[in-house]
Amino acid sequence: MSKLKLATAWLDGCSGCHMSFLDMDERLLDLAEFVDVVYSPIVDAKQFPDHVDIALVEGAVASVDDEVKIRKIRAHSGTLVAMGDCAVAGNVPSMRNPIGPHAILERAYIENATVQQQIPCVVVPKLLRVVRPVHEFVKVDVFLPGCPPSAETFHTALTALINGGPLDIPALTRFGA
Ligand code: SF4
Repeated sequence: MSKLKLATAWLDGCSGCHMSFLDMDERLLDLAEFVDVVYSPIVDAKQFPDHVDIALVEGAVASVDDEVKIRKIRAHSGTLVAMGDCAVAGNVPSMRNPIGPHAILERAYIENATVQQQIPCVVVPKLLRVVRPVHEFVKVDVFLPGCPPSAETFHTALTALINGGPLDIPALTRFGA
């Protein structure tokens, strides 16, 4: 049996969800018998593949770059999993929504800077006015709530996705199941 192609990606998050994913520890070796990680911050792959079977996405959509990235991931993925509360509901990154991006940039690059006080206009991606969860941009197939989701949740969900079985996790929602 050929292995499933798995990708993980992050948008506006803290990487904590990826750390929890790695907390599966030795169970990662079991999963590796069934999946190849073909794109991820934790592997050396620069381009998102033409097709992956499962994509796990951490973080909310907060910038123009995030939006381009999530639309590309959606277009090239079979099952898209929103992993963690930032991807599922906005969570921490969306706390800036009542303040607005300009005030945030002023605070970070002008008020708190002791040298070279200027708001960057290159390299740093343009922020969207409002931070929103992944499902407000693209169809999400599986939601893994938690900040972060536990390693147990990751293992249960991935085992079910690999086997094509039901996702038996309380408070976890799979559209169309
Ligand atoms: S859900 Fe929590 S752990 Fe995951 S990226 Fe957001 S803040 Fe970090």
